[in-house]
Amino acid sequence: MSGPLHLVLGDQLDLGSAFFDEVQPDEPVLLLELHDEATFVTQHQHRLVLFFAAMRHFRDALRERGQRVEYAAVDDELNRGSFREELPRWLGKLRPEVVRVREPGDWRVREALEDACAERDVELEIVADDHFLCSTAAFGEWRAGRKAMILEHFQRHLRKRFDILMDDGEPAGGEWNFDARNRASFGKGGAPDYPSPPRHRADAITRDVIALVKERYGDHPGDAENFALPVTRDEALYDLRAFVADRLPTFGQHQDAMVTGRPFLSHSRLSTALNLQLLHPREVVEAAEAAYRSGDAPIASVEGFVRQVLGWREFVRGVYMTEMPEYAERNALRAEGSLPRSYWTGETEMACVRDAMAGVLEHAYAHHIQRLMVLGLYAMLLGVRPYEVHEWHLAMYADAIDWVSLPNVLGMSQYGDDGLVGTKPYAASGNYVSKMSDYCGQCRFRPKEALGDDACPLTTLYWDFLSRNRRKLAGIRRMQMQLKNLDRKSDADRRAIRERAKSLRESPP
Ligand SMILES: Cc1cc2nc3c(=O)[nH]c(=O)nc-3n(C[C@H](O)[C@H](O)[C@H](O)COP(=O)(O)OP(=O)(O)OC[C@H]3O[C@@H](n4cnc5c(N)ncnc54)[C@H](O)[C@@H]3O)c2cc1C
Ligand code: SF4
Repeated sequence: MSGPLHLVLGDQLDLGSAFFDEVQPDEPVLLLELHDEATFVTQHQHRLVLFFAAMRHFRDALRERGQRVEYAAVDDELNRGSFREELPRWLGKLRPEVVRVREPGDWRVREALEDACAERDVELEIVADDHFLCSTAAFGEWRAGRKAMILEHFQRHLRKRFDILMDDGEPAGGEWNFDARNRASFGKGGAPDYPSPPRHRADAITRDVIALVKERYGDHPGDAENFALPVTRDEALYDLRAFVADRLPTFGQHQDAMVTGRPFLSHSRLSTALNLQLLHPREVVEAAEAAYRSGDAPIASVEGFVRQVLGWREFVRGVYMTEMPEYAERNALRAEGSLPRSYWTGETEMACVRDAMAGVLEHAYAHHIQRLMVLGLYAMLLGVRPYEVHEWHLAMYADAIDWVSLPNVLGMSQYGDDGLVGTKPYAASGNYVSKMSDYCGQCRFRPKEALGDDACPLTTLYWDFLSRNRRKLAGIRRMQMQLKNLDRKSDADRRAIRERAKSLRESPP
């Protein structure tokens, strides 16, 4: 063979991508299921079903439109199980002149592809990924010359550039940001019964994958049997329509609230469909905007949602692409601890961690505030090494891919990047959780207490975190109020807090 080999990675399943404009029907498109990718961290069974089932459906969709496709199933005897080993096997077999691939969203994979092609002396052509509205190059231009990268500036820039939620050059609804209306908890009445995201019935392909995952990876977290995520474009579009009709109107107001046993609330649960590229972010924000224009959803909800997809999602991807590979090494607070066992089992006396973990174990999902202000917060206050927290995310969340998990975890939630993604550490005590959830009423601990047997572990660890990192935090303007409150504590209290925090670290509740 003399032509190109077109490699499609498991998170690049967009039939409409311009990548395919240059693919002739008789040229091979290659998809690889790899054992090493399933086990480099012990991945949740839903995550494995998601990737393998979506890849197999994509393979068939390509074949249906007349494309030549080569496919290595993970249980194929010949499959060597890693990019470094399996890709060279295909290079030997197909003898292409060049391997074309879109920018991998994982630096580790990018390096493995480079090595595999170099070994066989085949050119690797990495082309821009048109899934993202802001290309790596465009992000680089936007940030060049800026002292700080501010999300708000970035997302205004994209809204103007793509004319999203704009009226004659002005932001729709008269303001850029409606977050002030979007911070409510549910109060005594509890959360209304929002319709849950659709559950998709497994077809024959997905059922095969479920059986395969149970057989080969049955000791991984989660239960493949209750898998219900979208694995085709049609299913993803169905989810998008359901979200816009059922939950977008209430998305904004209670975006930061947490309720026991209600993992999704008004959240979209679209992240897996977006991250596997079954949906394009452009169509997602346009669907949300259309709901605003037709009067079906209020501006605060729509703006809040657009900010997540057009703002945060593109922003963290730009940070990843322009900061890697050094970014992964960052550890600004020099945290070297390990995650407690409860991050794998969900067994803990802390009601907030228990509920967030129940969603993670059952659905490979937790919503943003559970990720940031419960599981992320607890890990940061304990002093866990940021990269270990990131690896745990890659294992446990169906939507985790290096480009999106690393800046969110190491940067936003653990402050490992010294303020590049978030301007200050998201440090809070149990009082925050108490305000935003119904957890504390069902917990054996008391959120306001920092000392004593019933003291909330988050509250003790919060004060200890401020003390331990005092010198570093003193340089951050937005931490001054918290440090002043710390200074009001007596020396004796601070000593007692340090002792209790030490014992919490030694035997987490
Ligand atoms: C510690 C931590 C780890 C995270 N890890 C991931 C991850 O591995 N993969 C992932 O897709 N998102 C991650 N996020 C971002 C966000 O929490 C998830 O995208 C969201 O919870 C997914 O659920 P949803 O689809 O219901 O989102 P919604 O609340 O409905 O939000 C809509 C969409 O906006 C996008 N979005 C929202 N916030 C972010 C963000 N901070 N960064 C990127 N996209 C965002 C997602 O595509 C999401 O589907 C993480 C956030 C934190 C704080
Ligand atoms: S008291 Fe503390 S540990 Fe218990 S639910 Fe509230 S914040 Fe979590």
